[in-house]
Amino acid sequence: MPGVLYDGYRYLRVMRDLLPRAERSLRVLHIAFEHRILGTFDDDGRYHARAVVCGYPSVVSTSGIVEAPAKPAAYYRVKAQLALALGAVPFDAVKEPFKGQFIDYDDPRLTEVARGYALQAAIYHITKEAFCGDSACRLFNGHWQAEMITAQLESGGLCPRHERVAAEISGLARRERAAKKH
Ligand SMILES: [Zn+2]
Repeated sequence: MPGVLYDGYRYLRVMRDLLPRAERSLRVLHIAFEHRILGTFDDDGRYHARAVVCGYPSVVSTSGIVEAPAKPAAYYRVKAQLALALGAVPFDAVKEPFKGQFIDYDDPRLTEVARGYALQAAIYHITKEAFCGDSACRLFNGHWQAEMITAQLESGGLCPRHERVAAEISGLARRERAAKKH
């Protein structure tokens, strides 16, 4: 895992300055996919790694998808026990019994999960509303890997409200394209 945690909003600021001037407009949606881990402060005053940081541009962090939502509680118990016994964490051995229960590096499911976070960034860009409270919606911000897997893969869709929002947005875009042609 990449060991350094970058400040999410500072990182966004650096990236913003790298955008081509002509595309530095709210009319252009920018989403970067990154392997670096970005952190931001939570309501509890603590710093947390993030799967996505929404802003301008937005960043989806593939390592954040692996590291930010918590793995099963038993994983941390096994990890702590082995670390105590061995003096180091044998990550492969710790992960083995929990395989499939969380998204890991090089996980074939990672791309699909990253798509869901890109969708969050896109909806945020337009509505300024980042997350959804419905645990079966892809805009749900799961704090556990299990929640993320449910929202992004098992459900794989939007809640009825966001379904309507998405339809409205694509309708607007269609009308705008049609208006430009005339
Ligand atoms: Zn929703």
